[in-house]
Amino acid sequence: MRDKIHLLIDSEALSAKTTRELQGAKLTIDAALNNMSQGLVMFDSSARLIVCNQQYLELYRLSSETVRPGCTFREILNQRVGAGSLLISDLDQHIAEILAGVARGADFTKIVTLRDGRIICAVNHPMTAGGWVATLEDITEEKRAEDRIVHAAHHDALTGLPNRILFAEQLEQALKRVRRGERLSVLYIDLDHLKRINDTLGHPIGDKLLKGVARRLLSCVRDIDTVARLSGDEFAVVQSSIDQPSQAAALALRIREAIRAPFDLDGHQVVVDISIGISIAPDDGTELEELIKAADIALYEAKNTGRGIYCFFEADMNERMQARGKLEHDLRSALANGEFELFYQPIFNLPNNKISAFEALLRWRHPERGLILPAEFISVAEDMGLIIPLGEWVLSTACAEAATWPSEINVSVNVSPLQLTNNNLINVVARAISSAGISASRLEIEITESVFFEKTFANISTMKKLHEFGVRLVIDDFGTGYSSPGYLLSFPFSKIKIDRRFITGLSDNKESRAIVRALANLARDLGMIVTAEGVETSQQLEQIRILGCTQMQGYLFSRPLPATEIHRLFLSKIKNIGRAA
Ligand code: C2E
Ligand code: MG
Ligand code: MG
Repeated sequence: MRDKIHLLIDSEALSAKTTRELQGAKLTIDAALNNMSQGLVMFDSSARLIVCNQQYLELYRLSSETVRPGCTFREILNQRVGAGSLLISDLDQHIAEILAGVARGADFTKIVTLRDGRIICAVNHPMTAGGWVATLEDITEEKRAEDRIVHAAHHDALTGLPNRILFAEQLEQALKRVRRGERLSVLYIDLDHLKRINDTLGHPIGDKLLKGVARRLLSCVRDIDTVARLSGDEFAVVQSSIDQPSQAAALALRIREAIRAPFDLDGHQVVVDISIGISIAPDDGTELEELIKAADIALYEAKNTGRGIYCFFEADMNERMQARGKLEHDLRSALANGEFELFYQPIFNLPNNKISAFEALLRWRHPERGLILPAEFISVAEDMGLIIPLGEWVLSTACAEAATWPSEINVSVNVSPLQLTNNNLINVVARAISSAGISASRLEIEITESVFFEKTFANISTMKKLHEFGVRLVIDDFGTGYSSPGYLLSFPFSKIKIDRRFITGLSDNKESRAIVRALANLARDLGMIVTAEGVETSQQLEQIRILGCTQMQGYLFSRPLPATEIHRLFLSKIKNIGRAA
């Protein structure tokens, strides 16, 4: 060890006092120098070198030929600049800083990165007699390990993008610039159908997709912007220094174009779509929380209201979100509290004007708000999963009600697509029918057309089973979705209901007339009943008769009414209905 130590003492160059002190301390220093792994250097009160060890010279790539006792601190620093072990441009300032630190009398640490990437930590100890000792250590490995930990804590392991924590930090930094007059946008991006891709193609493909999405997102932004992955299928972008919100819209469109191009993942062509919510600072707020919440609300709006690919935050969205939150909260207890009711609307056979069925239509008697229509809560109940128990309640209540009617009158029940994908629907229907004690053929199940767009094997097989069970299947709102006569051929439907839109258009829209006529003809040829929905005027009634519809339902004859009302109005005098109509 001793031969490694390069002790540089030139007693002539030192004052007598310092030499005396040194001689006293020499033995101790020798022992210390011999046994230390760090570099050590000592300067006297006039910043001249007293001593340094070999490790010191090696750390800074200095030569023992030129670094001699008595050299000034400045000379050594100049040599370090020459050797590439000091990157400081302003030497005077550096010297002033160190000397000021020494003058303060307390230990202080300096960490420097050398040109070759090594990181050196120098701890400076001022000495009572003036001057200072510095111990130096190469902390490159430690620092790298620490950096790796810090990096892992701030980045998403899969894509390498900043995670939620770093995203928040970077947004916070960018917001400082907003307070000085800049403008920025926050884009929340939600990838559609990731779960489905994971489920059908496997997680490794899902992971590759996410990496691909990350790469494409990065390709859409500038260096000064941040792209982060916030959670499974949620990404975010901070777009810094923009002049106009339209730049955020342009970025949203660019991102969408980039993401929608097909991904080739191990031979699978995968196409994904996204929704984007945008908030702008300072317009929508200057605080982190505000902006994140605003972007999130706008994303929700873009995703759930079909308002398009991207949506800017608007103040009233917040109120709508709160209203929705309250609705969800209230819905959660509504079923248990018995707040739901079924209204019934008659469906008439046109040839003889007799009631063929009543359609059960759900109503929510809210304790504060009164009667609420399904348009306001069905989709919320679907999102919450509540539609499954609620739909079960509707089926059993409607069947039990039908048991009190004449047996030639059917009951028609709307079933959500989610109930159809739930394996249990057959059992639920069977239970409702058997506990009401009605025949299966009296139950008509109305399924909206959108179901066929999502025609999964599960949906088709459930519909076939329902048909085999004896239940009648009805396509509701025909013409609003992805109408294709193909559906009519491939499923065992007994009825189609033509959407109200076409009936309303009958008087002044040639196309509506043509559609209704064509559907009526097609249905007749396939042996199906055609019901016109939403008939409000006697003129419309006349027209649907002429065009070939076989049933009608609408305000012209009756609005949906509570069960007790339909008993009073129709069922007690059912025989007179035909004449009255
Ligand atoms: P839908 O199945 O097409 O029901 C017909 C809707 O049209 C009903 O609205 C009815 O009140 C309305 N209507 C009937 N005749 C006329 C008319 O002449 N003019 C006008 N303007 N409207 C008329 P409602 O009760 O508000 O229900 C809306 C939708 O909510 C239903 O459309 C159905 O898709 C859904 N829905 C209702 N009850 C349930 C249910 O128990 N379960 C599920 N999943 N959905 C339901
Ligand atoms: Mg219906
Ligand atoms: Mg309908």
